[in-house]
Amino acid sequence: EEPPAEHAVPQAGDPSLVLLRRVGAVDPASLDDYRAAGGYAALREAVRLGPAGVIREVLEAGLVGRGGAAFPTGRKWDATARQPDHPHYLVCNADESEPGTFKDRVVMEGDPYALVEAMTIAGYATGCRKGYLYIRGEYPRAIRRMTHAIAVARSRGLLGDDVMGQGFAFDIEIRRGAGAYICGEETAIFNSIEGYRGEPRTKPPFPVEKGLFGKPTVVNNVETLVNVLPILTGGAAAYAATGTAGSTGTKLFCVSGTVARPGVYEVPFGATLRELLALAGGATGTLRAVLLGGAAGGFVRPDELDVPLTFEGTRAAGTVLGSGVVLVLDDSVDLARILLRIAEFFRDESCGQCVPCRVGTVRQEEALHRLRRRPSDGDLALLREVGRAMRDASICGLGQTAWNAVESAIDRLGVFSPSEAS
Ligand code: NAD
Ligand code: SF4
Repeated sequence: EEPPAEHAVPQAGDPSLVLLRRVGAVDPASLDDYRAAGGYAALREAVRLGPAGVIREVLEAGLVGRGGAAFPTGRKWDATARQPDHPHYLVCNADESEPGTFKDRVVMEGDPYALVEAMTIAGYATGCRKGYLYIRGEYPRAIRRMTHAIAVARSRGLLGDDVMGQGFAFDIEIRRGAGAYICGEETAIFNSIEGYRGEPRTKPPFPVEKGLFGKPTVVNNVETLVNVLPILTGGAAAYAATGTAGSTGTKLFCVSGTVARPGVYEVPFGATLRELLALAGGATGTLRAVLLGGAAGGFVRPDELDVPLTFEGTRAAGTVLGSGVVLVLDDSVDLARILLRIAEFFRDESCGQCVPCRVGTVRQEEALHRLRRRPSDGDLALLREVGRAMRDASICGLGQTAWNAVESAIDRLGVFSPSEAS
């Protein structure tokens, strides 16, 4: 088993932390510790505001999803709350499987009651009596700590038929993933919970209308949900004052690779990649590139380190912020090998439901094998054609993004160009 969460937070104890401030500072098993450190003040505020008031605060705060896609959370909550069809369900997506992503594990292991409280607020605001917490099976410590926190919260009247004696019901059930990357796709989660193969459904309809068991469902990532706590305790305006207009608040970044101090870092949106790398002690050798956004992301060159870490800033720089992956690659790393590993990953994890992805991920890997041996214009052209077909015609995000990192490495880093090969 991996070392516990607090070991993965090099900033632990820094008073400027918002989302990570309790990780390593409180006993994650103790509800009393959590309450003494400000826990459950946000739920009390939520009850004071009422469901519509909570959604208004989340909208005004400008909170967007931290799973990678940055969809406005308040819009999702509002759309679900308005659905006349009942019951409504909440699903917390804790199937954190993007290669290089480990922030949600740190939150669940180090501050489990924060997620219980945040899910309760989301359920209260959107009219859900039941929340599913879908955790990847490879996170046994997170599953244990969340299971314990849910049981204690229930025994103390913070979950159940009459939460905090306030006349609303909400409870949480944990479901474990079983090792499939595709089960992090929100509609594949529904299939998995319902007992079917973990295959994505076509969208629309979006989950807010027709989700789990065909009912209106709000799906949020772990980090997204815990952001609701500072929004309610400090107010939407104070929350939105941190970050930029398009990306408000702070963000957890998963810094890994050839870097001096890997781990999860919390910085305000708008900090530059250069500043984040400095916090993490810098690359261990001469920096070659940084992969942002994970396997579905794109590369940043050493001359581009002043890119602001915001959703809009990274997009303008030709890459993505995604779920906060910052994979540092120094000049000791074989980039073609990294690309091949990414291609193997997508080929392995494709659920096989649609042809462009099922066949395209195989063809992509084969072409990369050949290119590693001998660069050829024909194979580069084939990669582009296969990549376009996957992007345009795949059912879900896996196939649509399976060519992103390879395309970025070819176009932005010159991998497989004659000079790179020599
Ligand atoms: P998406 O853009 O299709 O949707 C994002 C969210 O917004 C979804 O919940 C969707 O239901 C909702 N949505 C979109 N349009 C809507 C509308 N009109 N009305 C109501 N709701 C709407 O993205 P996606 O395929 O769900 O996710 C892709 C992202 O997932 C990528 O950015 C990738 O980085 C990320 N990802 C993260 C991990 C991880 O481990 N955290 C793993 C794989 C992928
Ligand atoms: Fe499955 Fe890939 Fe199609 Fe997604 S794009 S449904 S993972 S085959």
